[in-house]
Amino acid sequence: MTPPRIGFIGLGIMGAAMARNLVKAGYDVTVWNRDRKKTEEFQAMGREAAPTPKALAQRCDVIITMVTGDEAMEAVLGGPDGVFAARFSGSTLINMSTVSSAYCEKLAALCFREAVTFLDCPVAGSKPLAENGTLLILAGAEEKALEKRRALLLSMGKTVIHAGPPPAGTRLKLCVNLLLSQMTTGLCESAALARAFGLDPELIFRTAEASPAIDCGYFRMKKNNILKEEFPPAFALKDLLKDVRYMLSEASARGLRLPVGEAVEKLAAKTYNSGERNSDLTAMYKSLLAGEEK
Ligand code: NAP
Repeated sequence: MTPPRIGFIGLGIMGAAMARNLVKAGYDVTVWNRDRKKTEEFQAMGREAAPTPKALAQRCDVIITMVTGDEAMEAVLGGPDGVFAARFSGSTLINMSTVSSAYCEKLAALCFREAVTFLDCPVAGSKPLAENGTLLILAGAEEKALEKRRALLLSMGKTVIHAGPPPAGTRLKLCVNLLLSQMTTGLCESAALARAFGLDPELIFRTAEASPAIDCGYFRMKKNNILKEEFPPAFALKDLLKDVRYMLSEASARGLRLPVGEAVEKLAAKTYNSGERNSDLTAMYKSLLAGEEK
């Protein structure tokens, strides 16, 4: 079987690392990114940078999208230069961006109408896992379509968790990120309380690491951010806020309230408005400390 020609759209923190892994795995990868500068490293590796998403779709069998969310997806898929303007029937679209469940459903229906195979495959795991190719891929897809692309997906991740047909991957992703958002605020509040008590927040990490109950890889990943009070983005606060808003509106549409999720949204929005939109989500700690000083 001839290997598929891959078109990769969205070379941000995650996308650039994922596309690099596809190149490393030997795939023929064409890229597109809104900010053209980010395509230069791929051109330097001898890969093509398509002038538009439409041109990329015209020359590829599998199109992968890894952009911010619903609006960014509309921007790359719709309009005269968008992927769907290519009339790419018979191809496959794999969306790996975190979008709302409602948007994912709409996209699945559009792909069905256009005879495009759709795989709803957001990922769990942050920048280091994208770099190492060890992401968890949360798949919403028909079994056969998923099997056909399993090897491709596994060149970006280590595990594929099949949740059901689309939008099950996106729904699982939103549930997992709800947990992650609350683990983050839990960690930030715990460290802020330690500081208010005059305790070294490092003691929290030492205790967690020695505890079979609360030791956790995620806390270890975020330890330096909290202790150094530096927040270089691995998962940007703006994207956490986007995801929490998707969760809240999807829950509310189903008559479910998420009171802790609502509190996370408030703290994330406050942090976003304080100029930290592009910082790591752990910058919420900074907002708590700013509150402490008042
Ligand atoms: P990022 O670094 O902010 O990259 C976002 C990408 O989307 C960039 O390529 C950006 O293009 C593009 N984009 C945004 N708006 C656009 C628009 N209107 N038109 C065209 N392109 C647009 O974000 P990331 O961290 O890579 O995250 C990508 C996706 O993965 C998001 O859905 C995020 O929620 C999800 N995710 C992130 C993590 C993580 O830890 N970072 C983990 C799991 C899932 P420009 O370069 O031109 O701005």
